[in-house]
Amino acid sequence: MSFKTLDDIGDVQGKAVLVREDLNVPMADGRVTDDTRLRATVATLNELADKGAKVLVLAHFGRPKGQPSEEFSLRKLADPLAHVLGRPVAYIDWEGDKAAVAALAPGSIAVLENTRFFGGEEKNDPAVIARFAGLGDLYVNDAFSAAHRAHASTEGLARALPAYAGRAMEAELKALEKALGAPERPVAAVVGGAKVSTKLDVLKHLVSKVDHLIIGGGMANTFLAARGVDVGKSLCEHDLKATAEEILDNADKAGCTVHLPYDVVVSKEFAANPASLRTCNVHEVAADEMILDVGRQAVEALGDVLKTCRTLVWNGPLGAFEIEPFDAATVALARTAAALTKEGSLISVAGGGDTVAALNHAGVAADFSYISTAGGAFLEWMEGKELPGVAALG
Ligand code: ADP
Ligand code: MG
Repeated sequence: MSFKTLDDIGDVQGKAVLVREDLNVPMADGRVTDDTRLRATVATLNELADKGAKVLVLAHFGRPKGQPSEEFSLRKLADPLAHVLGRPVAYIDWEGDKAAVAALAPGSIAVLENTRFFGGEEKNDPAVIARFAGLGDLYVNDAFSAAHRAHASTEGLARALPAYAGRAMEAELKALEKALGAPERPVAAVVGGAKVSTKLDVLKHLVSKVDHLIIGGGMANTFLAARGVDVGKSLCEHDLKATAEEILDNADKAGCTVHLPYDVVVSKEFAANPASLRTCNVHEVAADEMILDVGRQAVEALGDVLKTCRTLVWNGPLGAFEIEPFDAATVALARTAAALTKEGSLISVAGGGDTVAALNHAGVAADFSYISTAGGAFLEWMEGKELPGVAALG
């Protein structure tokens, strides 16, 4: 994987640089409720502005499906972005944008209107690519989270203008390369979450890549069922038992050790600290019980596995972590991984919406080597797919 970065961009003084960012932040009552994505833009935008570029931020917001509207306008993000950047941010809509860009002073930053106000954005339409390209001299893609989509502002532009990876994109690509591209071995993967069906391609890819595959969460139930365990009322995709068996077979052939829980935390109801809570061997789950977390002994053994590994990639919680005490296994293993990372014996990379929430809940997100907030793009990368927005930078 080779790509140019801001180190290669040369003199940008007075040049218009189109920067694809991810401004798709959650909002409530007109306020940004989580500014993680805005903070991720700071390094690239301020560096380019400091070097005298006219910085033009391109981004989508929501799903306007080609229809301009106030609801999906990026106008409302100019101020929150300015606040995070610590400098003014102008707003430019799609009428009179050419003149507005021409009037911008070097060293200033402007956010352009929602790219998805053009229906052709999501179709990677040459006319829309040309429309965007006409505004700038150079293109920087800083939005890994949008790189799994071949859209005009993510893929098309990279082919139309000299293209570079922004600082956040660069950091993400380097971290992911370290975790699965050319990792230090042994490598462990933790895959958890609710269902096997949403992560089939991830599992299939990982068995050929990692030395240890740790399966937890609801999806472990499907694997246990495939091995003849009666999982009672647990979340389980019985129709995927054959697929689960196939994945286990492939792991075997590839020399990947699969770790399934052997003790589990069960309950008759899906509620916090239920009266029916107990821990048992996987073979002792009653017909009216649900498996909601990995048991303590299994977690301890998994911690020992991590101690023998140099690299960890993690997607998906080990249990129904939103409800106590079914967060226990995820929290315990996350703390072990964080401690090993701090000691310098483990490179740890994690991603996924609920995974990031779970690691924050465990208070260890800052101790991991890298946390990806990219969602869909992170999963596609875990599936071994080439992301069009990244490929176009090469
Ligand atoms: P991510 O967003 O990190 O990719 P997922 O969305 O795949 O993760 O999975 C997270 C969900 O899986 C959580 O809502 C969690 O409650 C659920 N989950 C984990 N273990 C179980 C289980 N044993 N039974 C039911 N749901 C579970
Ligand atoms: Mg999720």
